[in-house]
Amino acid sequence: MPKAVVIGSGFGGLALAVRLQSAGIDTTLIEARPRPGGRAYVYIQDGFVFDAGPTVLTDPTCLEALFALSGRSIDDYVTLVPVSPFYQLRWEDGTRFDYVNDQETLDRQIAALNPADVEGYRRFLAYSKALLEEGYIKLGAEPFLDFGAMLRVAPQLVRLQAYRSLYAKVASFIADEHLRQAFSFHTLLVGGNPFSTSSIYGLIHALERKWGVWFARGGTGALVAALVRLFEELGGTVRLGAPVARILTDGARATGVALESGETIPADIVASNADIVHTYGTLLGGTERGRKEAARLTRKRYSNSLFVLYFGLDREVPDDLPHHTVLFGPRYRGLIDEIFTGAAVPEDLSLYLHAPSKTDPSLAQPSQSAYYVLAPVPHLGAAPLDWAVEGPRVAERILSIVEARAIPRLRETLVSSRIFTPADFHSELNAHLGSAFSLEPILTQSAAFRCHNRDDVISNLYLVGAGTHPGAGVPGVVASAKATAGLILDDLAPDGRLAS
Ligand SMILES: Cc1cc2nc3c(=O)[nH]c(=O)nc-3n(C[C@H](O)[C@H](O)[C@H](O)COP(=O)(O)OP(=O)(O)OC[C@H]3O[C@@H](n4cnc5c(N)ncnc54)[C@H](O)[C@@H]3O)c2cc1C
Repeated sequence: MPKAVVIGSGFGGLALAVRLQSAGIDTTLIEARPRPGGRAYVYIQDGFVFDAGPTVLTDPTCLEALFALSGRSIDDYVTLVPVSPFYQLRWEDGTRFDYVNDQETLDRQIAALNPADVEGYRRFLAYSKALLEEGYIKLGAEPFLDFGAMLRVAPQLVRLQAYRSLYAKVASFIADEHLRQAFSFHTLLVGGNPFSTSSIYGLIHALERKWGVWFARGGTGALVAALVRLFEELGGTVRLGAPVARILTDGARATGVALESGETIPADIVASNADIVHTYGTLLGGTERGRKEAARLTRKRYSNSLFVLYFGLDREVPDDLPHHTVLFGPRYRGLIDEIFTGAAVPEDLSLYLHAPSKTDPSLAQPSQSAYYVLAPVPHLGAAPLDWAVEGPRVAERILSIVEARAIPRLRETLVSSRIFTPADFHSELNAHLGSAFSLEPILTQSAAFRCHNRDDVISNLYLVGAGTHPGAGVPGVVASAKATAGLILDDLAPDGRLAS
């Protein structure tokens, strides 16, 4: 039986490990941190359970598929509960928009802002559905290994005007500025600037409408735990607190990994879910291939970073606060420009507020409630700030905004908090420039122009996760695992050996 090693236990690494083990490949998942999940880590503090990262779960079918591979059902491992509204959007002028899956409620709210946009929205939805079909259902788990693969899909991309930005495309259907923001901000959830990211990301809207928005009971951490349990039941091995120092190679073959502890683990297949620049620059830094690819990758554009503040309150969630809320700041385009290229933390902030206790009170003690709030901020390359100094200041600013606009008496009832800054993305997750989402999802860094799921030179080295096609977000990295697993299984000769 061939042996595989997967470096990193983010959703991409976990999904790949499950797929390989389900196919009978003896797989070891190696994670640097003491707990699995990567960006979907969990902090347990002062009686609160804080999910560190992904909280908006879309397309549950991509997760269900991982359990179905071995004839199991996700329902026996974790409970996914629907969330409605998907988000509530709030602007400083007092406008609120409940982003729901019910057409009548949507139409009523759109008409209240601009009656003509009801028809425009219908056309946007039809466009979004076409994008979903082409960009996600047909091509999401397709490994784009060369330019030829890109050429084959070029006609569809041109037909769907994928060369236009999402904001420009939304604006061609919808006139009201609140609604333009409501239907274009989603690229920010995967590290894309709506003014420069391809309109193909407009598919997220149809994705949400088709499958809904879900939350795992017990938090996203419960979903991570479910995947780990599934993997171990299948016979896989998980090694936590075991940072990989190097990927071992012999010419154009990977032969295993060396841990920082000095232990070596031989393998026929090596797959990295770690940051792409870290993978090439550090783990393969001793090889010519690693140095060359790292130099190429560092010239690319990287997504913004995030400042995340986790906090627990000695009160229940306010009645009018839903599970997911977006608090738009006074500016949209100007703020986004600064988030992607500014040299400082912007003067005004747009925030995403997560109130999971609304759906699942078990994440806090009785009559208490858990939250996180995140602000997109520039990465360390654009804004090389001292976050030990900046962090507490930004946290104070955020608390004032949230107290004024969403949670009265916040500071009075604050009993627990912690922050995660761009510097932590870099030091804790080995993220290049502290980017929260890896390569920026612009057209020239998508599909074949993203990191390939199999290295072009080292033939049994594979990649999975946000830096590969189709990109960041839980459905994205889980789709990348499908593409990577497909390549690995194709590369295996019928006798189970890897073709060289
Ligand atoms: C705050 C936040 C909120 C988000 N919200 C959402 C959301 O609501 N919905 C959504 O779909 N997406 C969301 N995302 C995006 C999504 O979380 C990520 O795109 C996705 O989880 C990344 O998964 P990944 O497979 O690329 O691996 P990662 O999560 O990046 O994990 C990589 C793993 O590799 C490990 N590693 C690195 N170097 C080594 C080494 N040398 N040895 C061993 N291990 C190593 C790391 O410790 C880490 O565990 C959010 C992201 C963030 C940061």
